[in-house]
Amino acid sequence: MKTMTASLLAGAALMISGATANAAEVELWRLDCGTIDVRNLGVFSDTFEYSGEKRTLTDSCYLIRHDKDYMLWDAGLPAALIGTKADASAVFAPALTEDLPTQLARIGVKPEQIGRLGISHNHFDHVGQAASFPAATLMIGAADLAQFKANPLPFAVDPSFIKPWLDGTSKVDPILGDRDVFGDGSVVILSTPGHTPGETSLLVRLEKTGPVLLSGDVVHFEEQFANRGVPTFNFDRADSLASMERLTGIATSLKAVLIVQHDASDINKLPAFPNSAK
Ligand SMILES: [Zn+2]
Repeated sequence: MKTMTASLLAGAALMISGATANAAEVELWRLDCGTIDVRNLGVFSDTFEYSGEKRTLTDSCYLIRHDKDYMLWDAGLPAALIGTKADASAVFAPALTEDLPTQLARIGVKPEQIGRLGISHNHFDHVGQAASFPAATLMIGAADLAQFKANPLPFAVDPSFIKPWLDGTSKVDPILGDRDVFGDGSVVILSTPGHTPGETSLLVRLEKTGPVLLSGDVVHFEEQFANRGVPTFNFDRADSLASMERLTGIATSLKAVLIVQHDASDINKLPAFPNSAK
């Protein structure tokens, strides 16, 4: 009887803490997916917050290990940029020094081990290297997937980057609403539309680090959560503001580390590759 009471109490304690006896091991790496020099930052605020400014955006991708399963979050700028010279006259000048398979090789992960390719949204700086992972199931907001077939194509959307999934060679899993990726709450795709119609963010719950939120492009710089900076090229202004509110609300209630994927000052919130957050 005594033993039974003790085990019941232990079970209750586990339920309260949200942990389970056989919780999966979750690990998160930040990968370098390039930079984008923006020569007219004005386009990142429709209230003229950044008129006349210039800034370098970072482009980041993330690898998540859930026990033996690997998921990639965003596929960065296209590898064809490696070794090319940036166009000094362009408003957006993207650059890339190392591709994803090369970085993954340093931690012994092969592209074919990536089972899931989660994409925050359909822009070229988030799907550029997708085709390096044809064995992965593409997980993308259904409305963003539909835009790859639109005529004319929206700004920054190029279907050639996800050809294996569009022509049916590789598997697609369109996301509607939120999605608990592994069914245990450890990795959750969050619906945060506005930048694009099917934009998503990612919640990763780590044992030691605690919850981490990867912003997608809900904002491009941390300060936009406060100044409500909506880019002029966003799909829906009201949805953009609502998604900012949702992300900061989640960050507050979960005490999560909120990482703005394009903000160079947020890079240090995760360990430098090849180290990971656990
Ligand atoms: Zn972006």
